[in-house]
Amino acid sequence: MSVIVAGISLNVSAYPLLERCKVTVMSPIYDSLQRILERIDSARQRAGRSDQVGLMLAVKTQTPQTIVQATNALATLRPGPVVLGHNRVQEMVASGPALAEPEVAAHQMRLIGPLQHNKINHMLRWADGIETIASLELANRLEAACQRQERQLDVMVQVNVSDEETKSGVSPEAALDLACQVGELKCLNLIGLMTIGLNSSQEAPVRAGYARLRELAQEIAASGAPGTAACTQLSMGMTNDIEWAIAEGSTQVRVGRAVFGERN
Ligand SMILES: *Cc1c(COP(=O)(O)O)cnc(C)c1O
Repeated sequence: MSVIVAGISLNVSAYPLLERCKVTVMSPIYDSLQRILERIDSARQRAGRSDQVGLMLAVKTQTPQTIVQATNALATLRPGPVVLGHNRVQEMVASGPALAEPEVAAHQMRLIGPLQHNKINHMLRWADGIETIASLELANRLEAACQRQERQLDVMVQVNVSDEETKSGVSPEAALDLACQVGELKCLNLIGLMTIGLNSSQEAPVRAGYARLRELAQEIAASGAPGTAACTQLSMGMTNDIEWAIAEGSTQVRVGRAVFGERN
């Protein structure tokens, strides 16, 4: 940090990277990102884990400009492409052009909300992946669209581990079957499972759901079914419960409010 701050007083036009940082250092998002990265890292250490936990920015309702700011800020704080999660295809499309500008740091876009069939091509224009596969029909339609475009798509199966009826996702009992069917599809790369945890302040039931997701992924990856061996990522944990999710093996937390503040 001190290096970057000091850089501002230099003639930054000679340093395109520092010039970019000038914006991020002044933004409150930068401080929030630092705090959330610290939260992730101390949870990871307390869980005795030596692997990395990814941070996806859950950008729903944010303006393209804010998303660009957050992307560039996070890129200065940790290596690798920034992962952005959109809930709505419409917002993904709206932010696409701003994010495609050359001054924006390397990033990937994923859909973490429901996908209507008539939005598939809009999504494929911008998305590198989707975490909300919950039916074979959707998977088949994505496969057909990807085949036409001769491209691959990273996918996760969304599982409803909390049994709350309002939540989307396949039931835990049906997850193995669906994962095996998705694994058969040539253009879809099954990389893991995603869940929205139980909305509760009680640790035990929330963690039980996350443990269930971890066990399901292990079962799927060990099944020997074609295309399932790489089903190892666990997208779980949000602002309120990243510590519990990381303790249960989350490889990617999806954070909105802790970065951007409360949504209106
Ligand atoms: C909004 C949302 C998040 C982030 O939730 P916060 O509580 O804002 O951190 C994560 N995942 C999904 C699917 C979401 O819709």
